Amino acid sequence: MPAIRLDGKALADIVRGELKLKIDRRTAGGHRPPGLAVVLIGEHTPSEVYVRNKQKACEAVGIRSTLHRFPADIKQRQLLDVIAELNAHPDIHGVLVQLPLPPQILESAVIDAIDPTIDVDTFHPINVGRLAAGHPRFYPCTPHGCVRLLQHYKIETAGKEVVIVGRSNIVGKPLALMMMQKPTPQNTAGCDSTVTLAHSRTPDLPAVCRRASILIAAVGVPGLITANMVQPGATVIDVGINSVAGKLVGDVAADVWDVAGAMTPVPGGIGPMTIAMLLENTLRACELLDG
Ligand code: NAD
Repeated sequence: MPAIRLDGKALADIVRGELKLKIDRRTAGGHRPPGLAVVLIGEHTPSEVYVRNKQKACEAVGIRSTLHRFPADIKQRQLLDVIAELNAHPDIHGVLVQLPLPPQILESAVIDAIDPTIDVDTFHPINVGRLAAGHPRFYPCTPHGCVRLLQHYKIETAGKEVVIVGRSNIVGKPLALMMMQKPTPQNTAGCDSTVTLAHSRTPDLPAVCRRASILIAAVGVPGLITANMVQPGATVIDVGINSVAGKLVGDVAADVWDVAGAMTPVPGGIGPMTIAMLLENTLRACELLDG
């Protein structure tokens, strides 16, 4: 029997509907609408698509989004000045700088320059530290999308063996923190799991993956995870988004649908959840700042 489809698009629609109601209530009560500033540097086609999707999603729920575009040869100093202006703007409750950045710009300098109270991507070291300490201000969007999908489908995580493949700062590393932590009222995304974080230097990846009752792939290699790497009945979350011959595919091969118990599709899985979590963070930042 093929795996149950963990429908991220459907859950993202529900989350967005709830956000729209909350935002409508806020604005009807005389509050400013939440504002998200998106900074885009250069001309990188996937980034253009991501930014367009984020902006469309903002409009649909009543978040005012503004796009700040700069040429690929912008100097780091100029970009830091732009971020300082956005940090100080009273109508802006979230700033995100779309990655990747051109080589003359140090990613860490840009991330460090964003005011942590409006760092809705949750990349600033203060927000990463708060997450690691178990009292986050925001959750990082893609990892949070994974956890919320597991929670929505009531997939037990407590005490389960979770293997995450990929250790990036954006997905694998923060997701490992969230999956291993104890759930508390301050940290509702804690999953109480036993976590293994695998990466490019992990020997015998298939054997490591087979230990998992929840296997999460966040690598960027199409079809890396094949059926022989998956425990029968395991839950498989495919974070990968790769373009192959003009088609979007994940990191998990199609034959895994026949082995897994539940699985996310690509597209329609973690992608829409990531955007929904970004919208949630923007509203949360607005509530924390404006009351
Ligand atoms: P990254 O390149 O920063 O990190 C990839 C990780 O995979 C690294 O830690 C590396 O050690 C590991 N890796 C590489 N080759 C490996 C191999 N053969 N075996 C085991 N581990 C290996 O990538 P990222 O930013 O974390 O993104 C990963 C994937 O997730 C990409 O396809 C990206 O497009 C996708 N992504 C999707 C969303 C979403 O919204 N669904 C968000 C962010 C990233």
